[in-house]
Amino acid sequence: MTPSSTTDIRNVTIIGSGPGGLTAAIYTARATLEPLVIEGEPSSTSDQPGGQLMLTTDVENYPGFPDGITGPDLMAAFRAQAVRFGAEIQTARVSRVDLSERPFAVWIGDPQADPTYTTRALIVATGASSLMLGLPAEQRLLGHGLSTCATCDGFFFRDQDICVVGGGDSALEEALFLSRFARSVTVIHRRDTLRASKIMQQRAFDNERIEFLWNNVVIDLLGEERLEGVVTEDLGSGERTTRPFTGIFVAIGHRPNTDLFVGQLELLDNGYLRTFDDRTHTSVEGVFACGDVQDDWYRQAITSAGSGCMAAIDAERWLESKGH
Ligand code: NAP
Repeated sequence: MTPSSTTDIRNVTIIGSGPGGLTAAIYTARATLEPLVIEGEPSSTSDQPGGQLMLTTDVENYPGFPDGITGPDLMAAFRAQAVRFGAEIQTARVSRVDLSERPFAVWIGDPQADPTYTTRALIVATGASSLMLGLPAEQRLLGHGLSTCATCDGFFFRDQDICVVGGGDSALEEALFLSRFARSVTVIHRRDTLRASKIMQQRAFDNERIEFLWNNVVIDLLGEERLEGVVTEDLGSGERTTRPFTGIFVAIGHRPNTDLFVGQLELLDNGYLRTFDDRTHTSVEGVFACGDVQDDWYRQAITSAGSGCMAAIDAERWLESKGH
C-alpha cells in the first residue's frame, strides 16, 4: 500500500490493531471518517498485528461465541469487519509521532524524513507486550526452546518435559494448553499462592500433567543453540537445581507499549497512558487512547473492544466539534 502524501490530512489515524484499535476502526469507518489503521508488523511479541490475542489459545469469555473461538480467528473477524466498512489498514510499525501541534504527524520508517501521515485525530491502541525474565540467555534461546506463546509454539514440545514461569491467569492458561502436547508441564512460581482466578487454578490442579514448583525462580537457561536445562533457585533454602526442561514459556505479565509517546502524553507511574474523566481523552486534545495501553486493571479483550468503541465516539464527537 502506498502511503498517502503529507498534504493528505487523515481524519483519524489508529495506531494498533488489537481488539481496541480494530473496534475503533469499525466505529470510525461506519461514521464515514475513513480511518487509517497502522497495524504493526509481524513479530514474536505481542506488539504485532492483532495484538496479544494472536498469542492466545482458546478465548472462552468473549461474548457471542458460546463454543469459544481462537484468538487469531477472533482478530481476523475484527479485521475483516473493519475493512468491510472501508478502514484502510497498513502493515507497518510507527517510528515516531509529533503531537505538539495539529494536525498531528506520524512517521513510518526514517524518523528524520518528512512525516508519512498527518492526522486530525489520533487513537492510540498500541497495547502491551510480554515481560521477560531479564536473563542474558533469553535473547539467545527465544524461539529455540524459549517462548512467550503456547499457541504459536506448543506443538513443537510434543512429549517433552517443559515449564511455565508465572502464577497468574496467563501462566495457567499456557500450562493447560501445553498439557495437550507435553509429557509434563511444571509451573514455576516465586510464591506459594497463585494470582490466577480460582477456576483456572482448579483446572490446573485437576490436570495430572501439570506440576507446581513453588517458591522458586529461574536464574539461568542452559544450552547454546537449544534449551537444554533450566536452573532454578529455591527462595527459602537458596538451593540451586538444574532441571532438564527442553521448553520454557514465560508468562509473567506485560508492559504497555508507550515508548512512542514518552514526553508527549502523560503516563501513569506504572507506565500506562493516562486517560481522563472516565473517557478516552489523553493529556493532548485530539489524541485518544483505548485498550491495554491505558488499562492496567481489566486487560480483557472485551474491555479493550469496549474502550475502542468509546475512543471512536470520543474522536468523532471531537472532530465534529472542530467542524470536521
Ligand atoms: P499477572 O496477573 O500480572 O501475573 C503475573 C505473574 O507472574 C504473577 O504470578 C507474578 O508473581 C509473576 N511474575 C511477575 N514478574 C515475575 C518475575 N520477574 N519472575 C517470576 N515471576 C514473576 O499477569 P497475567 O497472568 O499475564 O494476567 C494479566 C491480566 O490478564 C490479569 O488480569 C488476568 O486475570 C488476565 N488474564 C485472563 C485470562 C483468562 O481469563 N483466561 C488469561 C490471561 C490473562 P506474583 O504473583 O508473585 O506477583
